[in-house]
Amino acid sequence: MPPTFAPWRFLVRRSRRLMAALLVLPLLLAFNAGAHAAASRDSLTLLVPDGASLSSWQVQVWTDSAAEEGIQLKTITDSAFLALGARAAGTIAGLILPDSAHIQASDALVAAVKQYVSGGGKLMLTYDAGALTDNGFYSLGGKSRFSDLVGVDYVQYDLLRDRVVGFGPIVGNKGRMDNLSLPPGKYVPYAAPAANARAATSNAVFVPTNRFDPGGSQFMRAIVEARANGISTSLARLSPATASASQLRYDLNVGNATQALSQLLSQLLNFGNTGNSLRQTDDISAVVNASGTAWTENPPALTPSRLASSDAEMQSVSGYGFGELSYYHFVTTGTFPGNVFLSSPSHGLVAGERAYGSGKVLFVNIPLGFFKAIGTDGALMHGFLNHFARDQVAMTRLSVQPKGIGGLVYNWHVDDGDDVVPDFRNIMAQDFMQNQGPFSVHFTAGPDVVTPGDGMGMNLPNNPAAQDVVLKTGKFGKYARASGMQHEIGSHGGWNHDLYGLNATETNAATYLPWVLLNFNALENVTKTPLREYSAPVGNNPSWATRWLEQHGVVGMYTVSNTGAAATREWRAGARLTDKLWAMPIAPFGKSATFEEFDLNGISDGTSAQWLVDLQSFVSNNRTNRLFYNHPPGAMAHLGVVKTFVKRAAALQAVGRFDWYTLAEIADFSQRRIQTNWSSSTNALGLTTFVASNPVSLTDVTWMLPRSAYWLPVVTGGSGTVSVTDSTHWLVTAKSGTSIQFVALQR
Ligand SMILES: [Zn+2]
Repeated sequence: MPPTFAPWRFLVRRSRRLMAALLVLPLLLAFNAGAHAAASRDSLTLLVPDGASLSSWQVQVWTDSAAEEGIQLKTITDSAFLALGARAAGTIAGLILPDSAHIQASDALVAAVKQYVSGGGKLMLTYDAGALTDNGFYSLGGKSRFSDLVGVDYVQYDLLRDRVVGFGPIVGNKGRMDNLSLPPGKYVPYAAPAANARAATSNAVFVPTNRFDPGGSQFMRAIVEARANGISTSLARLSPATASASQLRYDLNVGNATQALSQLLSQLLNFGNTGNSLRQTDDISAVVNASGTAWTENPPALTPSRLASSDAEMQSVSGYGFGELSYYHFVTTGTFPGNVFLSSPSHGLVAGERAYGSGKVLFVNIPLGFFKAIGTDGALMHGFLNHFARDQVAMTRLSVQPKGIGGLVYNWHVDDGDDVVPDFRNIMAQDFMQNQGPFSVHFTAGPDVVTPGDGMGMNLPNNPAAQDVVLKTGKFGKYARASGMQHEIGSHGGWNHDLYGLNATETNAATYLPWVLLNFNALENVTKTPLREYSAPVGNNPSWATRWLEQHGVVGMYTVSNTGAAATREWRAGARLTDKLWAMPIAPFGKSATFEEFDLNGISDGTSAQWLVDLQSFVSNNRTNRLFYNHPPGAMAHLGVVKTFVKRAAALQAVGRFDWYTLAEIADFSQRRIQTNWSSSTNALGLTTFVASNPVSLTDVTWMLPRSAYWLPVVTGGSGTVSVTDSTHWLVTAKSGTSIQFVALQR
């Protein structure tokens, strides 16, 4: 008889080993008292120049973003780093050289960074870090002194002059986009220009640079800010006319630019389809039918193979309202001796990883910090931070979600009279909507919608039917004890939807702030409760309005900034706008974000339903949050898609893989979570002790320990649970209290 497969044997062996670990635990803990505890491996380190201000945007945008993503990040000065010498590799788990903050670097510092990597360190080297010497000159070698570390040459001013920095789309395969935390729809299929078009014209775009602006960020600032304000919609692929109008240069490609795109294509072929998958074996995915009215769940074990061919498709990073976006980056030359993540069709390597000595370097040839702090475009920064912490350093992180359960905010914008009754009322009365949610439902309450006196608004103060919808939706007044889901009510703009949305600017607060107050007052007169959520009509949210909202106690708002990212605190023009008010970017689907735009852009129900289902899978697999918004008439016209979206959510919820969240819930949890203090130390036997506290409460705060780095954790103090269902992480969730302690043996 052939030997039969006995899975229980495997289980027994595993649990015995586990038992052994548990039995020796007291011994290991006892040893801890006397042993010298090694430094934490659960924090990244940001290298900043001596004397750098930690509150300058160039530094703070990194510390803020890391905190928002649940990643511990310390700063270290050049002097302190140099003083570590050869001990740096054993002391610092992952080192980041930021863009914009560290353009100048001494030869000694460059050498020390290389020594760190060579000795086993993990480095994320960002854009213009070290582009100039400590005296502010280009390196005499004619290229960045980090070129040999990265493996391609860049910052080649003597050689390339006006073509040092290129501008154009950034391209990667879909699986990599997902791995970089870019949700489906934050990229569009990449269409290569026809070969003859490429050869016939000099169609490459360049950013003028010099040693006072070696990465071109000062030059690009006005253009990037215009894009942030939605002014220039033509910045996707620049036409020659736009390029010359913006004083960008239009020139021949650099002939020997790194062929990163073809290298990426051959990487995909070499590994074969599933062997190259970046998916996990517990990742979920589903396929919808052509009409978008039904879906079929893929078994998680089959997800990597089912998605293999679409994961290999080439995509360009895109933005809401724009479609394909261009970014600027150093032209690289030479063949990259590593794994290409993102590439430029014209200018070479945009991001990639490479082994160097005993360590590894992740080169990100984009000014990530600049794009978040100045350009309100933070998805790439958050994505690369996540990737570096999770996949390169393999460190423990906090999940951004309560209990680590990913989910979506379903944000309803009820703009006018028809929208509330009959549309919203009728949608919420549908069978499939019963007890689903909670959703974030925002109302524009004034009598007019476009022009004064048009009478198209809901006129909430004088509209009993609309008042009834508000009360029922938020379970206020006579509905306080009624059964059914309690949704979160929010304010949508300034009383007259379009008039405010199209005319409020940074300089006319005196005219338009009273309209914001009118809208809040009208709603709060009905709910008798202060509102905690807001969405700006047409996405137009001037700084004065945002500041007023925070003072008024609003904790969560929708935003068209940072599209593709999870909840964040917004930056504008190099300053963080709020302390406690969290902004949730809309999830874009290419140029579109909601049903009316899908109609406008010819997106079928089957396609939009597939995107919504993919978005659910994305937040579930990545244990993160994103926001989808719609209007009642748009939803009414695509009810089959809405039904699929809501019913699949319920199915995923039933197995603990998804939750709906309101903006206020995400904001409250995020604000409490970032106040968590935690640290870890490891004794000589490899036992790591994690200690955490929170001034308010640790309830639902969740640590994700990489299985590749730790054996099963055990809670040794406070109240918490350990989940073993994730294929790549152990999840430790605090149940209550303000402190917790747990231990895990390093592998
Ligand atoms: Zn609206």
